[in-house]
Amino acid sequence: MTPEPLPDTLPDIGGPAQPLVTCRDLRKHFPVKGGILGRQVATVHAVDGVSFEVRKGETLGIVGESGCGKSTTARLLIGLIPPDQGEIIFDGRQLGEELSLRELRRGIQMVFQDSYASLNPRLTVEDSIAFGPRINGLDRPVERARDMMARVGLEPARFAGRYPHEMSGGQRQRVNIARALAMSPRLVVLDEAVSALDKSVEAQVLNLLNELRRDLGLTYVFISHDLNVVRYISDRVLVMYLGEVVEIGPVDEVYAAQAHPYTASLFAAMPSMDPDRRTLVPPLSGDPPNPIDPPAGCRFHTRCRYGEPICATTKPVLRSFGESRAHCAACHIHDPASGHSLSGKDFMPQGLPR
Ligand code: SF4
Repeated sequence: MTPEPLPDTLPDIGGPAQPLVTCRDLRKHFPVKGGILGRQVATVHAVDGVSFEVRKGETLGIVGESGCGKSTTARLLIGLIPPDQGEIIFDGRQLGEELSLRELRRGIQMVFQDSYASLNPRLTVEDSIAFGPRINGLDRPVERARDMMARVGLEPARFAGRYPHEMSGGQRQRVNIARALAMSPRLVVLDEAVSALDKSVEAQVLNLLNELRRDLGLTYVFISHDLNVVRYISDRVLVMYLGEVVEIGPVDEVYAAQAHPYTASLFAAMPSMDPDRRTLVPPLSGDPPNPIDPPAGCRFHTRCRYGEPICATTKPVLRSFGESRAHCAACHIHDPASGHSLSGKDFMPQGLPR
């Protein structure tokens, strides 16, 4: 069934073949201030040269440890913070050139992890959802709010007049989703949007997100640390480590055979019911390096069991492989010219040597 467009939906300018969002070489560094004069004493490298595309109609999952730059990337994407460097292109129009920040924010909405802190405690559910459409001059904000409440499974007659403290966590997150959708966005960024929910409620919200994507023709960027949830909802997955993209590819390919040692260790750390997969050896040792002073070369070399001298001096670039060339990893193992002792070995589709 063709999705029914909402009134005031932004037009699809570039057609289905053009990516909805292209990020090129995004960088964001934050100053650390100290001393009695509050001068800058250091710089946190939160996001360093991140490039990726989000295709129309897909769900792109973003995974990685805490502090790897997932949420900063999301905030850059939605225009909440300006990048120090790099380009954001939304449906063929570059932010700051042909596209204003206001237009970008109209086309991309975000749902945050904390459903309670995201809502104004003084506004009813209906007023919260209608607020965005009203101040952006969209058609019939109250009707939109009620339509969205019905779509996310909140009966308007029961919930319209309620306040956030009168609802459960799952119901509040449905309000946040309805509030984002009431703006008729093209892309929704879900930043750990189901992480704080009980497992049964989490499953309901994930199914709801899948239905809404199909019915409204939406595109999602889904940020999570839960690899099972990402597998369930995503078409492609992007893995970040210390502010950089280390692997990206179709979910089935990445989950079947991880090409980057960091991704492989994340998967090895997943709890498993299979006794053959249980081990007393920790898949990953040590803490991530300090983002104030990230290591030279490959940023993972301080924790990688396949690291060799070249890894400490030369930064690996993202290389594609496989028949579709859709699976990419940034690791010297995949560069035959690098001189890494494992490079050139037949590592796919079996994954990394164990
Ligand atoms: Fe490990 Fe070297 Fe690959 Fe980095 S480049 S992940 S240190 S093998």
